[in-house]
Formats: sequence, structure tokens, C-alpha cells
Amino acid sequence: KNVVIAVDGPAGAGKSTVAKIIAKKLNINYIDTGAMYRAITYKAIKENINIGDEKALIEIAKNTQIDFKENNIYLDGKIVNEEIRTPEVSNNVSKVAQIREIREIMVDLQRKMGQKYSVIMDGRDIGSYVFKNADFKFYLTAGVNERAIRRYKELKEKGYDVKLDDIIKDIEIRDEIDSKREFAPLIKADDAIEIDTSNKNIDEVVEEMMKYIN
Ligand code: C5P
Repeated sequence: KNVVIAVDGPAGAGKSTVAKIIAKKLNINYIDTGAMYRAITYKAIKENINIGDEKALIEIAKNTQIDFKENNIYLDGKIVNEEIRTPEVSNNVSKVAQIREIREIMVDLQRKMGQKYSVIMDGRDIGSYVFKNADFKFYLTAGVNERAIRRYKELKEKGYDVKLDDIIKDIEIRDEIDSKREFAPLIKADDAIEIDTSNKNIDEVVEEMMKYIN
């Protein structure tokens, strides 16, 4: 039987970092569901679609191929790992992700992946909606400043000229949209294990999660 591990929480809580490590340890696939919404957003921006134009965005989502292979995300056959992480995509992705029809397409893909192979999947609604029967559910949190500083360092390392204040704003706005949207919002599943990562390093978080999994 396939194992499904759900890792949810707000932006910058450390989900993808720990999920990647655990995927390696368990030799299962890591799926970054945020990357899927980012890929659609990136394509829409590239095609000059207005982010308020729901119909056009839904058309894009219907006509897009998204695949994961060896921790790379493919958008219509092309690797877009870097392109989907720009501040411009970050600032628009939550507006795209609140559209019900787009979520339905993504959730469908996510469920198919979980049926095909064992996965650790990170996102916002994995434990609460996509895989309600996941074998393990984690909900990672941290204070907004802590989360913003992590993002800031990541982006600086990649050479982006960003300001911490702008990142705090981006994270607050995204969290707000993500938790207030009508369809499958960001929420801790009742049976998810909550871990506050504010004062923990990566190894400590991984170790705590592995205790439950083993
Ligand atoms: O995880 P990441 O920060 O890359 O996700 C980008 C955005 O994608 C989130 O802010 C959220 O709007 C959306 N998202 C979502 N549901 C998921 C994963 C991400 O709505 N399962």
C-alpha cells in the first residue's frame, strides 16, 4: 500500500525543506503542491493574462501540463524550478489558487500521484482536503517574522534584491487569502500533528516528525 504523508502550514514554515529530507530518508516521492499553483501563475504572467481574469486563468489551467520528475517541476515539458519562485509569482499566486476550478484540476492531479506511488506532499490543504485519510499529517507553523526572515535569506542567496518588509507583507497577504478563501482553505486538520518550528532547527523538526512516522 502507498504511504501518504501530508505537510501543511503557512508560507515559510519550513515545509518543503523538511519534506525533501524525509522523502530521501524514506525513499518516497516529494511533491510540492505550491509549485503547481506557482507554475500556473507563472504561465499566466508570461502570457500577459490579467490576474483578475478568472475565465482566462481557468483556461490556462485546463490547457497546461504539469509533471514532477526527480524533484524538478515541468511546465508543458520545460523545467521551471527557478522561474516559479520570483517575487512576482509569489505576489500573485494566492489569487490564482483561490479559484475553485483551478484547485479542482490541481487536486485531481495530486490525488492521482498519491494513488500511483508513496508521497510526502506539502501544501495548504493536503491533510484537510486532498488526502483526508493520509497516513500521517503534520501542520508546521512559525511566527510571521521568523518565516519572513527565512524567505528573505533564500531570495537573497539567489540574488534577488528584496526587502524584509516587502516579504513580511507578501506572507501576511498570502496567509490571509489562503486561510479565508472559500474552497479548501489553509487550515490545520483536526488529526494533524502541529509543530511550531520557530525555535527549532531543521534536524530537530525532521527528528520530531520521524518519531511519529517510525
Ligand atoms: O508553498 P508555496 O508558498 O510555494 O505556495 C504558494 C501558494 O500556492 C500559497 O500561498 C497558496 O496560495 C497556494 N497553495 C495552495 N494550496 C496548496 C499549496 C499552495 O493554495 N496545497
